[in-house]
Amino acid sequence: MCSKRRSSFLRTATFRLTLWYTAVFSGLSLAVFLVVYVSLASHLREQTDNELLNTAKEFDVLYEGHGVEALQAEFRREAESKGINRVFFRLLSPEGKVLASSDLNQWRGLKAARLQAIATEKQPAVHTLSLPGRRHRLRVATKPARDGSVIEIGAALQGNEIMMERYRETFGTAFVIMLACGGFVGWLLARKAMSGVQRVTYTTTRIGKGDLGRRVPLGNEGQEINALAHAFNEMLERIESLVRELKQITDNVAHELRTPITRIRGMAETTLTGSGDLNQYREMAASVIEGSDRLIEMINTMLEIAITDSGVAELAREPLDIREIVREAADLFKPLAEDKGIDIQLDIPPQAVIVPGDRPRLQRAVANLLDNAIKYTPSGGTVTISLETDTTRAKVEIADTGMGIDKKNISRIFDRFYRCDESRSTPGSGLGLSLALAIIRAHGGNIIMKSAPGSGTSFAIVLPRASSRR
Ligand code: ADP
Repeated sequence: MCSKRRSSFLRTATFRLTLWYTAVFSGLSLAVFLVVYVSLASHLREQTDNELLNTAKEFDVLYEGHGVEALQAEFRREAESKGINRVFFRLLSPEGKVLASSDLNQWRGLKAARLQAIATEKQPAVHTLSLPGRRHRLRVATKPARDGSVIEIGAALQGNEIMMERYRETFGTAFVIMLACGGFVGWLLARKAMSGVQRVTYTTTRIGKGDLGRRVPLGNEGQEINALAHAFNEMLERIESLVRELKQITDNVAHELRTPITRIRGMAETTLTGSGDLNQYREMAASVIEGSDRLIEMINTMLEIAITDSGVAELAREPLDIREIVREAADLFKPLAEDKGIDIQLDIPPQAVIVPGDRPRLQRAVANLLDNAIKYTPSGGTVTISLETDTTRAKVEIADTGMGIDKKNISRIFDRFYRCDESRSTPGSGLGLSLALAIIRAHGGNIIMKSAPGSGTSFAIVLPRASSRR
């Protein structure tokens, strides 16, 4: 259990970010250490070399002016003042013979190496030596004198090496502390960066448990996390509206379909218990077919409304001349209007009115409104279809001189299955206006209704002339 939790922690982004942070932090610290170390070491060596070379030059001047005895005396004095264990001085003949020197008892193992080369180079030089038995290395400067002999000066690098050792030790301790602090800070930063993702995860888990109304709160972890939370919330809005839609359909199906199905069942039952002659069966079959057709149409309309309303429907956005749609609808309903003694009048501009849209759906919306206008207008009335346009929108108005809509019903007539009491005697499902509104809204438009009871109703479809996808 414990090892499982540990291994899942090792796989978290927080842990990996912490690791990265610590690695980068320690890499940078090491780089800084190396730069300081190298520059400090070279500075110390340069300082030592300069001191050695200056002293060698002074000895050379002395040797040239006062001879070997004076140099011998100066070697001893200088070595005693600086410490015979720390420095040595020698004057070597070109053959390597020691002509003068400080006390060399502490410097066993010194060789007169490279004398020939030094003598021919005629240039002062500095090199590093390790003598057996001595803990610290020494730096040796050689300066050829004018007579071919060589002045050699050596100094133990004790001070420098001890200083560098201390620097390494101090850095080692500081590095461990810095690594621990860096790791901790890295973990805090990674946790902060990941807290937004954790909020999304937490919200998802809650939603998974049925709390659909929950949303991811926006924090201050940065724009990316807020963009994620925002996108996630938008997706949730969508899912919630789809679920709401689905629930409403289920409720509607249960409520609205029960009555016609019960009626169909009742008819079948009556026929079964009746006299059983063929005509009665035929009548029953015809009624069942008619009732079933109406049910199928209702179900299809409900689905169409749900799909269009939720934005799932893929709407075509082809450029359409809206005049054609209006004319076709008027032609289609003309016979029905004539049968009822209603006059249809068209008022459309001569030039094309182009809107981006889905032809069959817009045809259906216009047809639903026109159908209602004819249905709810008594004989002798008029239905006027007019088309107006400006640069941004097109307006199709269907106005009738019919029964009008009572004030109390105005806010509800676009609800699914809502029918005004006055129109219950007329066949209908209460879905026509809902579908028309869903279609027009999916096009980025709206339907505006005006009505006065007894003196007619007008429905105006307003459509944008440029495409505005939802
Ligand atoms: P349906 O016409 O099938 O009943 P609709 O959704 O098309 O369903 O209309 C809803 C209700 O709005 C109708 O039942 C009717 O009461 C009212 N209505 C719609 N259009 C008109 C109109 N032009 N004149 C008067 N009432 C109307």
